Amino acid sequence: MTGDPTTQPALAVALPLRADLIGEVPYGAPQLDVPHLLNVNENPYAPPAEVVADIAESVAAAAAGLNRYPDRDFPALRQDLADYLAAESGARDLEVANMWAANGSNEVMLHLLQAFGGPGRSVMSFAPTYSMYPEYARDTFTRWVAGTRRPDFSLDPAQTIAQIENERPAVVLLASPNNPTGTALDVATIDAIASATANTGPDGAASVLVVDEAYAEFRRDGTPSALSILARHPHLAVSRTMSKAFAFAGARLGYLAAAPDLVDALRVVRLPYHLSAVTQAVARAALRHRAVLQAQVAQLRTERDATVSWLREQGFTVADSDANFVLFGRFDDRHVIWQGLLDRGVLIRETGPSEYLRVSIGTAEEMAAFRGALKEVTGR
Ligand SMILES: *Cc1c(COP(=O)(O)O)cnc(C)c1O
Repeated sequence: MTGDPTTQPALAVALPLRADLIGEVPYGAPQLDVPHLLNVNENPYAPPAEVVADIAESVAAAAAGLNRYPDRDFPALRQDLADYLAAESGARDLEVANMWAANGSNEVMLHLLQAFGGPGRSVMSFAPTYSMYPEYARDTFTRWVAGTRRPDFSLDPAQTIAQIENERPAVVLLASPNNPTGTALDVATIDAIASATANTGPDGAASVLVVDEAYAEFRRDGTPSALSILARHPHLAVSRTMSKAFAFAGARLGYLAAAPDLVDALRVVRLPYHLSAVTQAVARAALRHRAVLQAQVAQLRTERDATVSWLREQGFTVADSDANFVLFGRFDDRHVIWQGLLDRGVLIRETGPSEYLRVSIGTAEEMAAFRGALKEVTGR
């Protein structure tokens, strides 16, 4: 008698987990329920009511067609994104064929490494930088190589190029503004690196140069986007996200601009229908409201500059920031400071160089809470 299979104990089996994933844990900052969430660089302003209403209407319209697969190539959204970049960064020559999008710029990066990385190839970036990059490398069997920066977290063009020439990576990732430091690269540096990487990749090919501009909208006046040199470099890709400036982290929409051949390579590796009809509709709705959303960005930039000044007045070491967060230190034991702030209802991030902490820019009230708690904890 075999009895009811649903009530029998589970068999002991060993799952054939990839050897390189044994002991790995899922990525993610703590998601804690505290009054002031200043730890993952979210935009603190919820979408305004008029944006919420337009999104809801757009979802309803999309819902009526959900029996069908979405448009695989989403040309309407790609055109909207190109129009947005033309308005935001003056990138006027972008067309649908130059644009790509996915579920967050995390997925865009994964597509890049699926298409251009892989076994026997490497991807290079410069530490300290975004902690997700090594994970895309691992997941695509691409070797991760971390080069070095100057002590002020900037990149020396000649030294950066020498490190790239030595390594010959298939892909180079440059975050600008960089996370967790907040520092932006000047376009002359990116242009020099782009010119030098036209044949530093595998077998004399280029290294695909990705400039991750997740925080571009927060850059200070006078800092141009890498989009301004895109047309001259067919191996350059500039990636952006709606997660930060558009207050849209929950919607998952990242995108990039590049030459059509580069975009076509990404279309090969994407999963079919990766961008749902709902995602396409809500992204288009949010893009229609960029003016009101950009007003919030302006407020956050003002608050960011005030935070940098205040921290410097208190005697902290603070990296220049073109982003919606600030890296500051230096602490012998940063965990004690982090915990002290958390005990006062302010959650920031223990990330980057070991003597530093990173605080995301919130509302004026949240930043006042941060300043009050930091003064108490540090006694300054
Ligand atoms: C937040 C962030 C992103 C955006 O990720 P999404 O998947 O678009 O939410 C990309 N790059 C960097 C450096 C970031 O900090």
